[in-house]
Amino acid sequence: MDFSISKQEEAFRQELRTWLEENLPEGWLQGNRELPEDKADYAVFLRKWQNTLYEGGWGAISWPKEYGGREATLMEEIIFYQEMVRVQAPPLINYIGIHMVGPTLIQSGTDEQKEKFINKIITGEEVWCQGYSEPNAGSDLAAIQTSAEKKGDQWLINGQKVWTSFGHLADKCFLLARTSTHPEKKHRGITAFLLDMNQSGVETKPITQMDGQQEFNEVYLTDAVAYDADIVGELDKGWRVMIALMLHERTGIGAELFTLEKRFDDMVAAIKDYQINGRPVMDDPSVRQKLASFYARFRGSLLNYYRNLTSTLKNGHPGPESSIDKLAVSELTKEMAGFMMSLQGHRGMLWKEDAPIDPVWQDEYLFSFGQTIGGGTSEVQRNTIGERVLGLPKDMGR
Ligand SMILES: Cc1cc2nc3c(=O)[nH]c(=O)nc-3n(C[C@H](O)[C@H](O)[C@H](O)COP(=O)(O)OP(=O)(O)OC[C@H]3O[C@@H](n4cnc5c(N)ncnc54)[C@H](O)[C@@H]3O)c2cc1C
Repeated sequence: MDFSISKQEEAFRQELRTWLEENLPEGWLQGNRELPEDKADYAVFLRKWQNTLYEGGWGAISWPKEYGGREATLMEEIIFYQEMVRVQAPPLINYIGIHMVGPTLIQSGTDEQKEKFINKIITGEEVWCQGYSEPNAGSDLAAIQTSAEKKGDQWLINGQKVWTSFGHLADKCFLLARTSTHPEKKHRGITAFLLDMNQSGVETKPITQMDGQQEFNEVYLTDAVAYDADIVGELDKGWRVMIALMLHERTGIGAELFTLEKRFDDMVAAIKDYQINGRPVMDDPSVRQKLASFYARFRGSLLNYYRNLTSTLKNGHPGPESSIDKLAVSELTKEMAGFMMSLQGHRGMLWKEDAPIDPVWQDEYLFSFGQTIGGGTSEVQRNTIGERVLGLPKDMGR
């Protein structure tokens, strides 16, 4: 495992740093990082940022060059995320398009699908969402009920999706629907469709989270229309496509770990300045112990992540060990934000400009619960680690 940076990689980092200095939104590097509150302005701002990245050649660095990427190595991708976290770059509105749908279409889409969608993904012209989860199908995703039925040359899609991130902003959806029933094997008979969100059969209702944001949605499908040309892979074999799509997410957890590293530094800086009843909080040995424990845990997680990357490089795909990273990052994020809230005592309940320290901790604490659920809950990750990494017997409940 050698993660030292080569001269070429250092040059890559420098090129990116220079580009960021010249192209981040005005005032961003000076700390003016407010995103527009108005939903429409927010979407315009982030689409513009996606397009700026594309124009600069940074839109989707791991994609093949012929599609606008740079065929970046895994190490370059890691450097890219480290630098994005360092400058706290604006979020990627088309995260799902760039990291999941685009690479899947490049790998297994038809020529027509590539022609129709790929360029619009990288430029930010079309934003994508993923429609998997349903009210009774989350962890048990193969239980989906949304159906697609062939009528003439159309597929009519009916059902309900839930927790669809970016659904309210998305133009397209990578959607799983049931095209036939196989009681003995639920994941058979599911097909992956590329669905147009801008049609009368698709109704999107935002869900308000406890942090006040509306980032995900319920999506109601009533005779929503798709065509054979919108099927990815083979009819009834969408499960396979979906698993392949998930594997394209090579560095997502890494990006979260680098964010956590930055948050740790922010945490230490905030605690150094914070006093309670005229006494520096840092003088409290229990606070210092807690910081040491967080530091040891995230360093351990980072090293474990690097170890898993090494095996990904060898095998070409991540193993079940990536569940350890997912579990560690999301639980640690929640604990660190919770600790910062508890340090503020009852004033930790205060919001935005009333918060005694940077209000980002309040936001982060409330959002951190979602992180332990999305992309597989902590309980499911623990089962995966138990069964597939440690070789323990199967969970008795299943
Ligand atoms: C921030 C966020 C973004 C999301 N974005 C999307 C998106 O864009 N598109 C999309 O389709 N979905 C999205 N989701 C949905 C997400 O994939 C599901 O919430 C998740 O899979 C859990 O499913 P569920 O909510 O139905 O809970 P359930 O699966 O019903 O779980 C309920 C409880 O039972 C436990 N449990 C369930 N099965 C097991 C098991 N086998 N072993 C042990 N415990 C178990 C769970 O851990 C949980 O505590 C998002 C969720 C979040 C929080």
